[in-house]
Amino acid sequence: MTTVRILPEILSNQIAAGEVVQRPSSVVKELVENSIDAKATSITIEVEHGGKSLIRVSDDGIGLSRDDALLSIERYATSKIRSTTDLFSIGTMGFRGEALPSIASVSKFCLQTRTKRSDTGTKIEMAGGKIFNVTDVGAPVGTMVEVKHLFFNTPARKKFLKSDATEVSHIADTISGMALGNPHIRFRLFLNQRLQKNFSADHDLFQRAVTVLGKDVADQLFKIDFSTEFIRINGFLASPMVSRTSPSKIFIFVNNRLVHDRGVVAGIFNGYRGRLMKGRYPLVVVFIHIAFDQVDVNVHPSKREVKFFDSRQVVQAVASAVETALAAVQSNPGPHASLAVKPDPVFVFQDDSTPKNTAALSGVEQPVAGWPIPDKKPCFTEPEDPGPRISMDRPRAEENEYTIIGQVMNTYILVESRDGLILIDQHAESYTSH
Ligand code: ADP
Ligand code: MG
Repeated sequence: MTTVRILPEILSNQIAAGEVVQRPSSVVKELVENSIDAKATSITIEVEHGGKSLIRVSDDGIGLSRDDALLSIERYATSKIRSTTDLFSIGTMGFRGEALPSIASVSKFCLQTRTKRSDTGTKIEMAGGKIFNVTDVGAPVGTMVEVKHLFFNTPARKKFLKSDATEVSHIADTISGMALGNPHIRFRLFLNQRLQKNFSADHDLFQRAVTVLGKDVADQLFKIDFSTEFIRINGFLASPMVSRTSPSKIFIFVNNRLVHDRGVVAGIFNGYRGRLMKGRYPLVVVFIHIAFDQVDVNVHPSKREVKFFDSRQVVQAVASAVETALAAVQSNPGPHASLAVKPDPVFVFQDDSTPKNTAALSGVEQPVAGWPIPDKKPCFTEPEDPGPRISMDRPRAEENEYTIIGQVMNTYILVESRDGLILIDQHAESYTSH
């Protein structure tokens, strides 16, 4: 006999986490998107052990009241849309209301937040999706989310994580992409308590593009600027003389959302046609602006894919935009970078903490008081017992419901109830609860 049942909340959050949280960089993406949506001007990301032991994202955004903070960790709780109509005019990065509960269900999670209207902040601590502590705290305006021991209760997922270095490179790519899409926001990445990337807030798009694509291409970058009644496309591209062996330096934004889209990539290649060597990929940062009702962003929980209603027209426009930019380069080889814009280098420290570029050192900002101090008090206090491990195979028993797990020693039947495991002696009249 099959029994159809509604899954317990924690389990359904873990299932959602399967799509939303694939690896540490997905956590970083979701948390940073939330900070962007909260109108932060400065976002600090701290990562330890490739994000496996710690990811902490702090912002100076609008924060959450205590009630809203408690709601934010519920599934489908969002402040960003209200109706179906809103679904087709999404101007925020988030809208599905599932990132926080999903992340919290597969980690030890702490949210600390304060709005400017409140003197005290709120701190919520969770383990494996269960709240175990809600307290008032002194905190600056903004939000800090701490995610520790990702996948501690879903070992199968944890096994899929790669080396720290690989996970870090995914995180760095994610941050570079979001930094490109938001040049007015300061982003800092600390790896194992060392400042690794520092995108300052006074950047314009060109400076950000140089920072992300590489200082060496600064004088090889050209402006993309194309519009029709249907679409507007802007950004920067590198001369075909500079190319890469992978598409990792192709950044596509649709209405400011960083997306993967094969059609747009094909359009870019079309624009470069005949100019690139075989097997080489161009360096491109392209922003596509299109009416909200011309694109569906609700295609996948990770929000990395979009569906254009008229993709042919979009791809053609991208090809024309790229072609026009490259034609302008040929007729006027004076590159954009010669417009006396001094590129800001990325401040990358090597492992021994020696800056690669000493000139860059003076520009490195010291952590300021408030959130972005790498050695600040941790949000999450390790509890004695982080709560039961939740098996992905079997839903937990509902109230008044017993699930037979099996027979032990040919005598006892092992039963799971809401209160725990029960051993029933088949040959006795009473049972013992454990
Ligand atoms: P979504 O972003 O799709 O709404 P999330 O689960 O990511 O869903 O977040 C739930 C809600 O929590 C958001 O709608 C927002 O109101 C609030 N929130 C999350 N992160 C922050 C933050 N850094 N600052 C302020 N509010 C936040
Ligand atoms: Mg979100």
